[in-house]
Amino acid sequence: MRMNKTPSDPELESQSPWYHEGLRFECTQCGNCCTGDPGVVWVTDEEIANIARHMGKTMGEVRLFHTRLYGQRVSLKEFANGDCTFFDSQTRGCTIYPVRPAQCRTWPFWNSNLESPGTWEEVKKICPGTGHGDFISLDEIQRRAAEVEM
Ligand code: SF4
Repeated sequence: MRMNKTPSDPELESQSPWYHEGLRFECTQCGNCCTGDPGVVWVTDEEIANIARHMGKTMGEVRLFHTRLYGQRVSLKEFANGDCTFFDSQTRGCTIYPVRPAQCRTWPFWNSNLESPGTWEEVKKICPGTGHGDFISLDEIQRRAAEVEM
């Protein structure tokens, strides 16, 4: 049975996340999140297989040239300047965009970024697409945030 409370119900509203009315995000392809300071981009075996298929390479080649072990997990590799090895500096685009890992697909809707309006404001400082463009509903935000634990 469906609850008959509406989002304007004060009790329900107090239980809703601060972004219950949705948020805006549209990537401007500035490349900030794929370049610069070192970081990790977690990648699973399934994602490596998808990347390999997309590139017409073997999984072994993708592992060798584009991934590294980080603790017990596997991350995408970066060049010495911090750029992701899949980032095309000419076009400022991702060369594996349709099969990019979940961590990239779900940015900026990570739980760590959604923690408070303040953390969301911090994201805006590094990602000009955050807070602009496409409307993303609460359901979609929560779906994306649940895909990865960031
Ligand atoms: S920082 Fe934001 S706007 Fe820039 S490429 Fe990354 S997601 Fe897109």
